[in-house]
Amino acid sequence: MAPTERIFSGIQPTGRKHLGNYIGAIRQYVEWQDRGEGIYCIVDLHATTVAYEPAELRERLYDTTAILIAAGLDADRCILFRQSDVREHTELTWLLSAVTAWGDLNRMHQFKEKSEQQRELVSAGLFFYPVLMAADVLAYRAGVVPVGDDQRQHIELMRDIAERFNARFGDVLQVPEGRYPEVGARIMNLQEPTSRMSTTYGAEQGTVYILDEADLVRKKVRSAVTDSGTEVRRAPDKEGITNLIDILSVVRGVDPSEIETEFEGSGYGDFKGAVADAVVDYLAPVRERYAELRPDEAAIEAILAAGAEKAREIAADTLVDVRDAMGIGPHK
Ligand code: ATP
Ligand code: MG
Repeated sequence: MAPTERIFSGIQPTGRKHLGNYIGAIRQYVEWQDRGEGIYCIVDLHATTVAYEPAELRERLYDTTAILIAAGLDADRCILFRQSDVREHTELTWLLSAVTAWGDLNRMHQFKEKSEQQRELVSAGLFFYPVLMAADVLAYRAGVVPVGDDQRQHIELMRDIAERFNARFGDVLQVPEGRYPEVGARIMNLQEPTSRMSTTYGAEQGTVYILDEADLVRKKVRSAVTDSGTEVRRAPDKEGITNLIDILSVVRGVDPSEIETEFEGSGYGDFKGAVADAVVDYLAPVRERYAELRPDEAAIEAILAAGAEKAREIAADTLVDVRDAMGIGPHK
């Protein structure tokens, strides 16, 4: 099947979204929306795979949607919708389970990491998460999936699922490709620079939230853990400094080597100050637009409803072909 310029990506409405989400994913969504047909989904069904509060989930869904719009997603130029509004995702999840190897699911790093953090219940949903994610993308026969580095294994799995489906039932699904930013695909927690900045775990002081006030952002960046050296350069044993160089490079839109040259001979204090100012300026307009958009939940619902209608049309079409190829239901 020929590659399409259809782009799909999903983001969870859990917790508060952070600088890693912004740099690794949201920034790419905005960039890609004019390069092809962008389809972006707030994946509330994924959020139920770990412990959560129902009332809070709805609030976070509005928060996340407002952040995406504030960051530059435009409902007239892309499809923006809520996963649970398009029931085809869940039906396709089950159908794809027929060509998903249990052994492959059992090897997923994300399941291992997240299941260890669950205090009460490790849900079967958490184990099945990658199949739902495969259904999200494959339902739209998307060619490109912009995501952060932590999603590589899930993308490989969805490619395997699509290939196995096509080999078994005929050429129905597009085999998608992951797109990872060259710099910033894995932003690290500022307090624990060997762990990914995450919505659900890691030190709070090392997680810069998109909606943090300027002073708090400054404080977090200035107290970032570095090393006992003095040089502002990237190196495997300088995870903290490397992370800050990557962040500044993305925010300024320049190559990391330019940052190294600029800060040659400067101390860590000056460098951290520059990163802090740059991040504050980078996030300020998003925070301001968010504050305007977030109170109007009816307007957000209207955008999501219109998006779901467009999404459903594409997904329903894929499901007709998938069901037919699998011998499910009457002939199409
Ligand atoms: P959790 O840790 O609970 O999975 P999350 O922070 O990964 O939450 P998601 O909504 O699952 O948030 O991820 C949304 C997008 O952000 C995904 O494409 C993911 O790859 C990307 N992403 C997440 N963390 C980072 C990070 N530290 N650096 C770059 N990209 C990231
Ligand atoms: Mg994640």
